Amino acid sequence: MSNLYLQKELSDSKNCPPASEKPIHQLIHCRETTLGNDLIIRRALPHRERRMIGAWCFLDHFGPLTLNNHKSMDVPPHPHIGLQTVTWLISGHILHRDSLGHKQIISPGELNLMTAGKGIAHSEESVPDNSKLLHGVQLWIALPDKNRHDEPSFSHYASLPIHKQDGLVITLLAGSMFNKEAPTQIFSPLIGLDIQVSEDTHASVIPLEKHFEYGILVLNGSLNIEDVEVNIGSLLYLGCGRDILSLSAKKNTHCILIGGTPFEEEVLMWWNFVARSKSELTQATEDWRNHKLFGDVQGYIGNRLDIPLPPWK
Ligand code: MN
Repeated sequence: MSNLYLQKELSDSKNCPPASEKPIHQLIHCRETTLGNDLIIRRALPHRERRMIGAWCFLDHFGPLTLNNHKSMDVPPHPHIGLQTVTWLISGHILHRDSLGHKQIISPGELNLMTAGKGIAHSEESVPDNSKLLHGVQLWIALPDKNRHDEPSFSHYASLPIHKQDGLVITLLAGSMFNKEAPTQIFSPLIGLDIQVSEDTHASVIPLEKHFEYGILVLNGSLNIEDVEVNIGSLLYLGCGRDILSLSAKKNTHCILIGGTPFEEEVLMWWNFVARSKSELTQATEDWRNHKLFGDVQGYIGNRLDIPLPPWK
């Protein structure tokens, strides 16, 4: 995904309430926009009231959209630095191409992880299929300073660990839980879970790490957490300090739980770049505009995304 479709604001991880050391309830309402006129995108992170949760610095929920004959997602080649992108689908298929030469279709149950490091470019296009629905999430993980200049890479994980309890089907997208570990290569302590409610559930207990902060985003249905109702379009930020989360929901509810140790480094985000200073963001923009550093995405039909220089000097 790309920031083309929403306002290009500088996001500073220190310019929002600090990570809460104690359990709290902070309900964050996603900003909505559309892609290609009809694919709804709900952006939960970054938000003025919450820029990051652990190293998770971006969270878009897209769809569900019933596909017509045209592409419902068509994000032309664009660059990234300093982050990892995680793509996870509930339904439909997306074709990823990148400047390292990878061409990979992702389907539900699989995970695409692109580690941008010092720089990569990619495109993302929906692929027509029989399900006729496109529905999923894309998340970004900020790389810590020691890894953010590493060589770029791309991984496709065809299957992930699944844990079942009390009518919940929980897929580990990243990190460790329930004595299972996701294969997803990460660079700071964090967790990502897909939680599908297959039967009505009451007070199902999920173990948490006290030193992690957490947030939960509803993709379908609604959840009740500690007497707070969370619906589609809302992210409930929970802070740190819990060792369990008790969750109640009706059948067919679907949500994403993310968490991690509060990210100490100040992170600046602008357009598709994650960095530490405005000059780095300007340099990355100039490199993209001058066809330096990022390489070309082979096979994509159409023009790449372009961007004006940042508004600061
Ligand atoms: Mn992207």
